[in-house]
Amino acid sequence: MIKEVHIVRCDLCGMEFHSDDLLIENRMQRHQERHNPIGKPASSNIIRGKVNWLFVFSDKIKRGAQ
Ligand SMILES: [Zn+2]
Repeated sequence: MIKEVHIVRCDLCGMEFHSDDLLIENRMQRHQERHNPIGKPASSNIIRGKVNWLFVFSDKIKRGAQ
């Protein structure tokens, strides 16, 4: 039985999340807020902007749908 590796990567800082994480949607939302905080100043070492999530299947990378 083949279990496909599926990783979601933030293209702003390279942080990766595993798709089998039950809290992945919550983690992705919170991570987006780190890059584009509402009403709060971001840390100076964090790139601000809209996160483009990269979906990594094994050794292939394709752009995630917006
Ligand atoms: Zn990031």
